[in-house]
Amino acid sequence: MILYSTKHESPDVSLEEAVFRGLPPDNGLYMPYEIPTLPTSFFEKIENLSISEIAFEVTKALLGDDIADNDLQQIIASSINFEAPLVEIEKDTFVLELFHGPSMAFKDFGARFMAALMSYFLQKSHQDIHILVATSGDTGGAVAQGFYNTPGIKVTILYPKGKVSDIQEKQLTTLGGNVTALEVDGTFDDCQRLVKSAFLDTELSSKYNLASANSINISRLIPQSFYYFSAYAQLKKLGYSKPLVFCVPSGNFGNLSAGLIAQKMGLPVKMFIAATNVNNIVPNYLATGIYEPKPSKETISNAMDVGNPSNFVRMQILAGEQYTEVIKHIVGDFSDDVATRATMKEVFERTGYVMCPHTAVAYRGLSSYVQHQGEEVSGVLLSTAHYAKFLDVVEETLSTKVAIPERLSALLSKEKVAIPMSTVFSDFKKYLLSLS
Ligand SMILES: *Cc1c(COP(=O)(O)O)cnc(C)c1O
Repeated sequence: MILYSTKHESPDVSLEEAVFRGLPPDNGLYMPYEIPTLPTSFFEKIENLSISEIAFEVTKALLGDDIADNDLQQIIASSINFEAPLVEIEKDTFVLELFHGPSMAFKDFGARFMAALMSYFLQKSHQDIHILVATSGDTGGAVAQGFYNTPGIKVTILYPKGKVSDIQEKQLTTLGGNVTALEVDGTFDDCQRLVKSAFLDTELSSKYNLASANSINISRLIPQSFYYFSAYAQLKKLGYSKPLVFCVPSGNFGNLSAGLIAQKMGLPVKMFIAATNVNNIVPNYLATGIYEPKPSKETISNAMDVGNPSNFVRMQILAGEQYTEVIKHIVGDFSDDVATRATMKEVFERTGYVMCPHTAVAYRGLSSYVQHQGEEVSGVLLSTAHYAKFLDVVEETLSTKVAIPERLSALLSKEKVAIPMSTVFSDFKKYLLSLS
């Protein structure tokens, strides 16, 4: 796989370089030159394939000979080791549950695959790395779990004190081993600034092999295409053949970009719906052709509170670059918190299905599309997190107690271990230099 920078000012790189660099030096995004179409024979038998078998075929086609078959199988076996079941909650409306991984959010797919791929490359080169990551909540849990016990990799996670939920904090602070959590007495922006300064510091970068686990890493995008194929396979197995529509609750638009990769590889998708909360930069662009980033606003679907989506350019290129092409593949929709809560309540009362706020944004996007659509479709909405990760909002909105999965309740009784940290870079640097 050879990748270029979308700004065209940095050199082309191999997959290995793209994975460890994350961002090209010109601040563009890495994109593969070639996204091959899978053979008809793959789609003809897809309903008989497991998600890991699908993952193998897709990755093999994308990576070519970069990684030997048995190594690739190993990488997939150790990372894509949970299901993405499709649940029909009413006629022609299916929830693709992406929360069955260890952190109970879809970011497990990307983070675990990235960790396995990095570990594979490090074993070959006999190197160690130190990952620094700032999190506002969800990413940190997936990254911590993904890299936990991975040979050759140390992880330091910075999170803002008092600004993540109890469950999120426990996911970051109870693993131990190669994962250390720093509780920063500041905001998410402070955490991000500390990490950025560390990458720019020559003393630190000469002592450690620092790397980022950023959400724009290409190795997080690839595995997110697997479940689009898997949704199609599950529908086919159930005998459905109506045109396929995906509704993707979106923030930085990595998830939707991965869907476009699947479509480019031959997956028959009629339309993608880009569903956001009031941070509706992309739905606005789709409606008007004008892309206008804004400061983000806080909502109850907070993993999507993004005012300048980092994958926007990728999404645009994958959907055909020109605005007139992009709108053939994607339509936009957005919901404010009042509408999101009303949807959570209405769906729960009618069907008994409990959704997290992000999933509810997608439900609403899908149903408004279907209402304005003449033809019957199979509508798949992506459920990006388990509802119990947003317990307060869910119970308050539904006016009822909901069950908490064993995995999350066990977490809450574990003891938090975090190192307090100020927002001053020299303190952070001193801490890093004190590590052996
Ligand atoms: C990260 C996240 C999203 C947004 O995904 P993008 O790929 O950034 O568009 C949606 N829902 C949940 C629960 C998330 O954690």
